[in-house]
Parts: sequence; C-alpha cells; structure tokens
Amino acid sequence: MTALVAQFAVCAKPDILAGASEGRIVAKHILIVGAGQAGFQTALSLRQGGWRGALTLIGDEPHAPYQRPPLSKTYLAGELGQERLFFRPPPFYAEQTIDLITDAPVDAVQPDAKEVQLADGRRIAYDALVLATGSQPRQIETGAPLHGLHRLADSDKLRTRLGKKHRWAIIGGGYIGLEAAATAVKAGVSVQVLEAAPRLLARVTAPPLSEFFFAQHRAAGVELRCDAAVEEVAASASKTASTDTHTVRLADGSRLKADTVLLAIGIRPNTSLAEAAGLEVEDGIVIDAAGRTSAPHIYACGDCTRQHHPLYERRVRLESVQNAIAQAKLVAASLLGQTPRPPPVPWFWSDQYQLKLQIAGLSQGYTQCVPRGRADSGSFALFYFHGPRLIACDAVNRPAEFMMSQRLIAARAAPDPRQLADESSAPKSWL
Ligand code: FAD
Repeated sequence: MTALVAQFAVCAKPDILAGASEGRIVAKHILIVGAGQAGFQTALSLRQGGWRGALTLIGDEPHAPYQRPPLSKTYLAGELGQERLFFRPPPFYAEQTIDLITDAPVDAVQPDAKEVQLADGRRIAYDALVLATGSQPRQIETGAPLHGLHRLADSDKLRTRLGKKHRWAIIGGGYIGLEAAATAVKAGVSVQVLEAAPRLLARVTAPPLSEFFFAQHRAAGVELRCDAAVEEVAASASKTASTDTHTVRLADGSRLKADTVLLAIGIRPNTSLAEAAGLEVEDGIVIDAAGRTSAPHIYACGDCTRQHHPLYERRVRLESVQNAIAQAKLVAASLLGQTPRPPPVPWFWSDQYQLKLQIAGLSQGYTQCVPRGRADSGSFALFYFHGPRLIACDAVNRPAEFMMSQRLIAARAAPDPRQLADESSAPKSWL
C-alpha cells in the first residue's frame, strides 16, 4: 500500500490525487477515449511528464494510433509505407505500460459512476477521463455509396483506384479534396473537382489564394467547377472498377460520369458521447483553459473540442494536428497538476504539388488583405488584418513570412501593411 502511494507521489495534484491526499488509497486510472493524434499525444505527454499510474488508450479503429495527414498526400500516392504512418511501433505501448485497446468503440460515458461502457458491453472505470474522439466526415444524401478520406482504410481503397484508366469526381474543393486531387492527377487519374461555393477554399482564405490554387490545379490537368452543388449521385453495377459506375447530377441539371466519387465536404466533431453524458457541447465539446469539460474529472482535446482563444476573443474549433498536440499537452499538464499554458497561435499546412502552404492564425473577419510577392511566381504571402492588427497569414513557399507572422500574431502586433508588402523589407526586420 505504501508503495502504491509512492507510485503516485510524483504527480501530486488535487484532482487526481484527491483520495490519496486524504489518506485514502485510490487506484488511479486515466482513461483516454480516442486513439488518434490527440489521444496518443495525451498518453505520451502523461508518461513523459511522470505519470506512473494506470493509463488506458481506447480506440475504435483496428490499428495503433497513426497520423492522418499523409492519407491524402504521400501515403495515398504510395510514396510512404504504412509502417511510417504509426506514431510508435507496437512494443512502445507495452514498454510504457499504456494499455492500448483497439477496435473497441466506446458507447457511453457515465460521469456519476465514473465509468465508460464499450459497445461489447465491457465497463471500464476511471479516475480521470480524456475525450479525444476527433471528427468524422460530413455526409450528404446522394443515393449511392461514396468514398471518404478520413481513415487508413479509406486511403487504402483509393490507392487501388489510381492510374490512367480511372476517372474521379471529388465533391468538395477544400484542403482534403484538393490534396487528393493533386495526388490523383499526378498518378494519371482524370480528376474533376466539384465545389458548391463560388470559389475554392472559400471558408478559410481570401480570393487571391482560391484563384491561385484553381490555376495550379487546372495547369496540372484537374477539371474544376465552382458553383457546382451536387444534387444526386446514381450508381450502376459494373464488372470492372474502371468503368464509369456513377452519374453525378448537379443543381443546374448537368451530369457527369465517374468510376470513383470522393466526398470531401468537411468534418463534424464527434460529440455524441459527450452530449449523451450531459457535457456542454457547442459544435464541439466545450473546454476551459485547462482542457476541462463541464463535467468533473472529464477533459477533452483535439478536433472534438471548442475552446476560448484569447487572441481571437471567441471560442474556436480547430481541425489540425498542431491543435490536437497542443491541447493534448495542455490536458496532460492539467492532470499532472501543472499550470496550463495559453493556446498557441493556430497554424495549419497543406501540401499540393510542389507547393507548401502554411497558414498562421485565423483570417475569418479580416478587414484588409495585403499581398506580398506575386502569386504567379509560386511564392507569395497574404497578410490578413483586423483593423490595425495582424490576425493571419497564408504563406505559399514562404517559410520566413509564415514564421514571422506567427510571432507578430502572438504579440498582437499592428505592423505597417506597407512594410509587409514591400519585398525589400526582410521578415526578420519586422519585430
Ligand atoms: P483523430 O486523429 O481523428 O482521432 C480520433 C480517434 O478517436 C479516431 O481514431 C476515432 O475513430 C476515435 N473515436 C471516435 N469516437 C470513438 C469512440 N466512441 N470510441 C473509441 N474511439 C473513438 N491537419 C493538419 O494540420 N495538416 C494537414 O495537412 C492535415 N491533413 C489531413 C489529411 C487527412 C486525409 C485528414 C483526414 C486529416 C488531416 N488533417 C491535417 C487533420 C488532422 O489529421 C486532425 O486535425 C487530427 O488528426 C485531429 O486529431 P484528433 O486526435 O482530435 O482526431
């Protein structure tokens, strides 16, 4: 018994060790639901931070935790082997005494009983619970089964449909649709992208960036249509995968044929467990500055959350690797009794062809967009201001501008837009 107390003494903190500090011996168990980017990082950071208590990581996929970004890029292209997707090789979990349970959907959370119920009927008790359930692709009713691109198995299926004999229709001109388009067209596929909005990436960027990516994809041989809302996809039986088996009907009545239809119209957060358990949810599980949900002993991180961001003075839901990692570290720090750090400047990236797009900050609500460099050179940046303040930057093959923007945004700086636009002014002189 003394040994058990000593085992937990390294991570003395009020929440987890409430029982122990009162002289009671409590079997301490942190349970993480969702074995993706955020779930894995929480487990890793807990162990790195000195948590030596019981740690369980439960996921509903049949694999150990893996990274998703290559699924639309190098893995889809066949350039990256499957083993390189995994964050750690299988022995890591046993070595770190992380009880990894795969293929095990959690069906319910019972905050009062402090336990979760698995789909197979098993119940697992926790002292602290971390919800890292991620997101799922948005769906539309089309009448035919469509491809998605969210899980490893989705990318594996699409990999068998690369090559000259294939014709893809991609519904959605956002980052994942465009990355898949770039990969597929490079592999010889005839690709059509259908975007319901008047321009690509309309939700996240200014028109110059949309136009730039439109031109890049067209030059690579992708056929793109904006203002192209899909009304129906009809499937017909075919003996070979390469025969056009789908007819896509658009709102204007036009039709097009494809053998593969990929739906990539964004994601929605997986919040059903949290909602059913009575946690506060607002298109994302609401968490505070320490990663805590509205229920005691329950934390959340990653794509499934919504959190107040002090730089933007509103609650934001972020869909990115960096956010998943930062929030996982935050949750682990809170569980270890450390002072939580404020959220970093959000950032994202997208790789298409030879282009590296890096995005610092959130541009929504900008009042002025200032370009630096010419888009047709393939290397340029857009700076977004709200009033005098810099709030975001889209940088295409411009790492210095991206990095300096992160620092300016974090400092709530109001740089002179003319200086940022001036190519003779080096980014390092901006601070
Ligand atoms: P996930 O990684 O999705 O993990 C959540 C896990 O929880 C999943 O395995 C899910 O199946 C599981 N789960 C859900 N419910 C349950 C349940 N009830 N029981 C058990 N398990 C459950 N981000 C970038 O920043 N840059 C990129 O270039 C980029 N490219 C991407 C490309 C693709 C194709 C995709 C799909 C995503 C990409 N992203 C990119 C986004 C990034 O991968 C996500 O933001 C990140 O994975 C979020 O991590 P997460 O842990 O919150 O969610």
